[in-house]
Amino acid sequence: MSPMRTCVGCRERSPDSELLRCTSDGKSVRFGRNEPGRGAWIHPQQSCLALADRRQAWPRALKVPAPLDTSGLLDDLLVQIGRERAV
Ligand SMILES: [Zn+2]
Repeated sequence: MSPMRTCVGCRERSPDSELLRCTSDGKSVRFGRNEPGRGAWIHPQQSCLALADRRQAWPRALKVPAPLDTSGLLDDLLVQIGRERAV
C-alpha cells in the first residue's frame, strides 16, 4: 500500500503513487521524487498546479519563505505526463 498524501493544489488525498513529489532549493520548485529535504505532493494535472500557485501553497507546504519560482514546474509537469502516458 502506498502512503496517502495531500495534493497541494486541490487538497485531496491520494496514494503517493498517483502524485508527483516536489522539493524546493529555497528559490524555485522542482519535481524530484528522490530529492532530500521536505517535499510537497501534487497531482500531475495542470489544474492542480494552477490552484497551488493561486493559493500560494508552495511556500507553506515546503516551509520556505515566499516567493517561489514555479515557472519551470509546468514544463516539467508536461514532460512527466508525457512520460506517464507513454508507459
Ligand atoms: Zn490535486
